Amino acid sequence: MELAAIKSFSKPLIKNLAKLGIVSQQDLLLHLPLRYIDETRIVSIRDLRLGDSAQIQGEIVHAEVTYKPRKALVARIADASGQLTLRFLHFYPSQINALKVGKKLRVYGEVRNGFFGYEMVHPQCKAASDATAVNEALTPIYPTTAGLTQPAIRKAIQTILQPEMFLETLPAFAYEALNLPSFEDSIQALHYPEPTADLSALENRTTPTWQRLAYDELLAQQLSMRKHYAKRRSVDAPAMAPSTSLIKQLLDQLPFQLTQAQQKVTQEISLDLTQSHPMQRLLQGDVGSGKTIVACMAALQAIECGWQVALMAPTEILAEQHYKKFVTWLSPLGIEIAWLTGSQTKKVREAAQADIASGQAQLAVGTHALFQDAVQFEKLGLAIIDEQHRFGVQQRLALRKKGQPEPHQLMMSATPIPRTLSMSYYADLDVSVIDELPPGRTPVVTKLVSDERRNEILQRVRDACQTGNQAYWVCPLIEESEVLQLQTATEIFENLQENFSDLTVGLVHGRMKSAEKQAVMEAFVAGKTQLLVATTVIEVGVDVPNASLMVIEHAERMGLSQLHQLRGRVGRGAAKSTCILMYQKQLSDMARARLKVIYENTDGFAIAQADLNLRGPGEFLGTRQSGVPMLKIADLSRDEGLLQQAKLIADQLLIEYPGAVDQHLKRWMQHGVELVKV
Ligand code: ADP
Ligand code: MG
Repeated sequence: MELAAIKSFSKPLIKNLAKLGIVSQQDLLLHLPLRYIDETRIVSIRDLRLGDSAQIQGEIVHAEVTYKPRKALVARIADASGQLTLRFLHFYPSQINALKVGKKLRVYGEVRNGFFGYEMVHPQCKAASDATAVNEALTPIYPTTAGLTQPAIRKAIQTILQPEMFLETLPAFAYEALNLPSFEDSIQALHYPEPTADLSALENRTTPTWQRLAYDELLAQQLSMRKHYAKRRSVDAPAMAPSTSLIKQLLDQLPFQLTQAQQKVTQEISLDLTQSHPMQRLLQGDVGSGKTIVACMAALQAIECGWQVALMAPTEILAEQHYKKFVTWLSPLGIEIAWLTGSQTKKVREAAQADIASGQAQLAVGTHALFQDAVQFEKLGLAIIDEQHRFGVQQRLALRKKGQPEPHQLMMSATPIPRTLSMSYYADLDVSVIDELPPGRTPVVTKLVSDERRNEILQRVRDACQTGNQAYWVCPLIEESEVLQLQTATEIFENLQENFSDLTVGLVHGRMKSAEKQAVMEAFVAGKTQLLVATTVIEVGVDVPNASLMVIEHAERMGLSQLHQLRGRVGRGAAKSTCILMYQKQLSDMARARLKVIYENTDGFAIAQADLNLRGPGEFLGTRQSGVPMLKIADLSRDEGLLQQAKLIADQLLIEYPGAVDQHLKRWMQHGVELVKV
C-alpha cells in the first residue's frame, strides 16, 4: 500500500521517505535499524566503563566555555555516585543555556578517557527529572536523510507496525528447519527490541530475528531468479544433435590435448545445445585456461546441425584475435567465417552483412557491430559472448533477438565469480567452470616495486629485450579523462623510446584507428617490436607467447581483476615471466591490501574472493547490477549457511507452494524490480 494512504503522514514526510527509497508501507516496514541505543536503564556514574554507551542522569555542577586546547563547551554533571565531564566542540548558544549549573539532565553517550577522567563528547542531552520515565525498549537508530529526524522516522514506523503488515508469507517448515522465528516476531523485535536483547548480536545482525529477515531476503532473490530461469526455459530453441564429424576433425589437427576441465565443460555445453530451450550458460575460466577452443567446439555442434553462430568480443583487438584463430582452426574444415567491426568501410561491412544474411557465412565474428539492426542472420542458432561483463544487458539481449527461435547463449568470462556470488546474484544462470590451466605453464613471478626505483626497472626491461624476449609497459589508468589518458600514454611512449634508442618501441591505445592498432599489434606479435607501451586496452585476451615481462605503472589505481587480467598477458610461453607492479609511495590502506592480494595470489578465484571481501558485491556485479536488486540485509560472507538453505527451499516452494512464492515476492520485490535479462 502507498504511504499516501496513511492519514497522519505529511507530504514532506512522504517526500523524505522517498529519498530513502521508501515508497510503500512494506518498504517502510523493511527499513531496519542500523544500530540500537539503550535508554532503558540509568547507569550510575561510578559504574560507567570505558567504551560503554550508556545513559546517566544528574545535575550540572559546573559549566564553562574554554579556549585551550581549542574552543569547547565543558560541563560537569553529578549524580549521587560521582561526576563526569561532558564536552562539546561545536555548540549553539542554546546549548550553553541548557547546560547551566543546576539544570537536571538525562544524558546518553559513549564513555571516553579525557583530561579529567571519563568524559562524553557530544552526548545527547535532554531535560529530565527523577520522575521522567525510562524507555521500555532499546532505541533503534535508522538510516535517514537530511530533514528527517530519528524521532520522526521512528514514529512513522511505529504507525505502520500493525498486524495486517506481518502476514507470514512462508510455510512453517521453510524457516523452522533453521530454528528461525516467525516474520511477525522478527520484525517486531527488530523495530522494538526488548531491553534484555543482546546489543552486540543485534548490531552484528546475528540474532535469530535478523537471520530470519536475511533468510527471507535471500529466498526472495532465489525465487525471483529461479522463476526467471524457468521462464527462459519455457521458450523454444533449436535442439542440436552432438557433432559426429566436425569436432573430431578439429581435434585431430590441434597441436594439444584438451584438459580434463575443458572436456567436462564441453560436455555440459553440448548437452545444453541438444535441448529445445535456450541454453543460458556462463563459462568461467581464469585467463589462459583455454575458453576459446571450448567455444569453438560449441560453434561446431551448431554449424554441423545447419545453424549459424555469432561470436562477439568487447574490443576490436580481441575480436580480431578470435577471428584469426577461428580462421586457422575452421578454414581447413571448409567453414565460412564473416568478420564484422565498426571500423570497416561501408563496402566491406555490407559484403560481410550480405554473407551473414544469406547464410553463406556459418560463423560471424565481431565487436558490438554484430548486434546492430542492419545485421540479419539467416538462421542464428548460437550466440557466444566473450568477456560478457563488458557488455550491457541490452546489448546481449539485442544479439539474442536476432534468432528465430531464440538462439542458445554461451557467455564467457575470465573474471571468476566467487561461489557465494554465483549462488546468489547469478542463480538465473547455469555455470561451468574451467578450473585447471593447460600443462606446461610457468607461473608468473610478481614483484612490487616503488616508482622511485624506475631506473632499475628500465634496466630490467632492456635486459629482457636484449635477450630476445618482449615486454609490455602498461600506462596508468586515468579514469577522469580520456584525453589525459592518451596524453600520459604518449609521454611515456616518447620517454621510453628515447631511453631505449636501441630497441623498437610500439604504442597502442584505445583512441587509435583500428588499422593503426592492428598494425602495431601485428608488429608485436611478429616480434618486430620489442617493447609495447599500452593502455589497458590490452587487458583482455591478447596472446603473445614471447612476451615475458610486464611493467604496470600506478598499479595501485587498478582493480584487482584488472591487474589479474593484465598479468595474464605474460607467462603464455615457455620462458619464465615476471610482472612488475609499480606503485607510488604513500599507499592508502585499501591500496596496500589490494596489492598484497595480487602479490600473494595467482589463482583468479582466490583473487576474486578477496576482492569481494574487500569491496563487497556492488563493484563486482558491474553491468549486472542494473538488473538485479542488491541485497540489503543479507551478507554473503556472514550468511552463507542461510543462502545454501534458501537455495534448497526455493525449488521446493516453486513446485509445491506457488501461492506462498507470490506472497513472498510481493513483500520483498514489490517494486516489480526488473529481473535480470542475461
Ligand atoms: P582464455 O581462457 O584466456 O580465453 P585461450 O582460449 O586464449 O584462453 O587459451 C590460451 C592459450 O592456451 C591459447 O594459445 C590456446 O591455444 C592454448 N590452449 C588452450 N587449451 C590448451 C590445452 N588443452 N593445452 C595446451 N594449450 C592450450
Ligand atoms: Mg579469451
